[in-house]
Amino acid sequence: MNINNLVRENIKSLSPYSSARDEFKEASSDTIFMDANENPFDSGLNRYPDPKQSLVKKALSELKGMPSSQILLGNGSDEVLDLIFRVFCEPKQDAVITLPPTYGMYKVLANTNDVATVEVPLSESFQPNVNEILRAQDERTKLLLLCSPNNPTANSFEVVKVEKLIREFKGIVVIDEAYIDFSDQESWIGRLAEFPNLIVTQTLSKAYGLAGIRLGICYASLEIISILDKVKPPYNVNQLTQDVALSALKNQEKTNLEIQRIISERNKMINNLSLVKVIEKSYPSDANFLLVKVDDADKRYQELLEKGIVVRNRTKQIMCSNCLRLTIGSEQENNRLIKVLNELK
Ligand SMILES: *Cc1c(COP(=O)(O)O)cnc(C)c1O
Repeated sequence: MNINNLVRENIKSLSPYSSARDEFKEASSDTIFMDANENPFDSGLNRYPDPKQSLVKKALSELKGMPSSQILLGNGSDEVLDLIFRVFCEPKQDAVITLPPTYGMYKVLANTNDVATVEVPLSESFQPNVNEILRAQDERTKLLLLCSPNNPTANSFEVVKVEKLIREFKGIVVIDEAYIDFSDQESWIGRLAEFPNLIVTQTLSKAYGLAGIRLGICYASLEIISILDKVKPPYNVNQLTQDVALSALKNQEKTNLEIQRIISERNKMINNLSLVKVIEKSYPSDANFLLVKVDDADKRYQELLEKGIVVRNRTKQIMCSNCLRLTIGSEQENNRLIKVLNELK
């Protein structure tokens, strides 16, 4: 597969902005920087951040066993996904395939980039309908967006199905692994070398507890990363974010412990929810949230709100009628939710 053929014409011929910090990074201790119009008074933040985020990438590289050259960082996965749209999808002409019910941002990004969305709903068991997806592809469908574990259904997609899709889809396959750390499934980053058309995105927003710093991660072939790098704004990941991300990645033990606690709370929640009268079903979860079917989602959503508990009402999404999405909270928060749910008439 020739990846370059999938790239928009204007991007192929683009020469990226070369920032001051890009051109002169190898400085000796007596180098003075008078090139970027920065303020000379040291505040710890008076210099532009490293546009390549080398230290964060090095830490990720050691953690994941991927070379830094196959990593791109963004202001949340949302920026990373937007970059992918902008590189591969010609506005008013190209399309992407999404598998609803899924993450709402894919549609928003398609709309803001003026790219059409072809929707191929998941099966009854929330798995990709592989043959239908492959039938839906044409020369316009540049991206196939897979979310595994999927938001809001919480399940992972079967490996054989994803594998067939990557092999037979003629465009770029993006696997959004925002919730991978809560799952027993292997990340697809381990198989990037096999698939030149695969992009995997991850984030520090969920398992790492750092939604506030906005750090999204993209893993792909050197070729794809080089093209995305040309388009990304030079200083898209600020210094504060790089500093906090680096220290979190160096303290993986804390993250692992929190993941274990969230998973154990998730299992406890599933048991407790099975005894709640208004809950008809809770779906299996590979994520830090549960999709539950209730007797009347609009009514129960409102009642929870009145008791000071905000959950996500997904009843309007295809195949999610009367479903609520519940984030796993702290033990205390989960107990309060169960108590309130048990009191509903
Ligand atoms: C929460 C979430 C993200 C995270 O997005 P960020 O911009 O990195 O915070 C990405 N994808 C899915 C499916 C999510 O649910």
